[in-house]
Amino acid sequence: MRVRFWGTRGSMPVSLTGRDLRDRLAQALLAARGRPLRSFDEAIAFVEQELEFPLSHTFGGHSSCVEFEAGIEQYFVCDMGSGARPFGAHVLARQSGRPAVVNIFMSHMHWDHIMGFPFFGPAYVPGTRLCIYGCHPELEQALRRQQDPPSFPVPFSQLAATIEFIALEPGKTREVSGVRVTPEPQFHSGESFGFRFERDGRSFVYSTDSEHKLDDNRETQRIVEFFRGADLVIFDAMYSLAEAVSVKADWGHSSNVVGVELCQMAQVKKLALFHHEPANDDAAVHRILKDARRLEELTRQAHKLDVIAAYDGLELDL
Ligand SMILES: [Zn+2]
Ligand SMILES: [Zn+2]
Repeated sequence: MRVRFWGTRGSMPVSLTGRDLRDRLAQALLAARGRPLRSFDEAIAFVEQELEFPLSHTFGGHSSCVEFEAGIEQYFVCDMGSGARPFGAHVLARQSGRPAVVNIFMSHMHWDHIMGFPFFGPAYVPGTRLCIYGCHPELEQALRRQQDPPSFPVPFSQLAATIEFIALEPGKTREVSGVRVTPEPQFHSGESFGFRFERDGRSFVYSTDSEHKLDDNRETQRIVEFFRGADLVIFDAMYSLAEAVSVKADWGHSSNVVGVELCQMAQVKKLALFHHEPANDDAAVHRILKDARRLEELTRQAHKLDVIAAYDGLELDL
């Protein structure tokens, strides 16, 4: 399976400011002093190989949207945050006029997870089939309501695609076009659901908008079993531990530290920190990643956990 991140930011899309960009350019120029960069390709190679990630990249600004390819002629995606707009453009380009089948798995209906739906191009193409899966009975209502006047110019009822809503049952595995999917309830305002996907012996878990306190052993075990042995866990690490246990306790999100601990207990192969705090700039997200890697090294036993921070545009092959 290939996982592609279209939106990795939590709560609210963000973008680099003009000042951020100016400062980066100035730092990059300083770093390149004395380098005989003669072509665009040489300059790109320098940026890719020698500049630190927070200078050469950005963790991205779109809110939650994660696609995975399952090797069949259908699309699979988790959540319809603002990343659904570029994901939709990708689907349209790839289909070049042919209608698509898109399977959409919705963790919950907070605005940052549904706001991209009205801008999802394939919804406007006749013949397209959108199968929207979720555990919340209010899912259809939430998606319709955000397009009601006066909030949006095109009502949901005028979308050209055929749209079906399919209820999933928490804890119950279901097969969707050859992919096994199991939803799991998570602690979050209004409740959210993580999804475990399995196909051809590969598995990954999409677990965003979830607070784990680790002081209730049974709860911890439930999540560890949900993550057990996964090739990848995409994890809500919105906060650093200090934030998660002080001012932001009970805000419904988790930290990098809790992500490392749960994934170590579950013997996960790769942990992708996700749902980055919008107030954090790239340097701050990078610090959270470095702290998580350090913790993993210090507490590592036999099993090595690879820790990364997801960013818009990242692709992972499982
Ligand atoms: Zn969210
Ligand atoms: Zn939420």
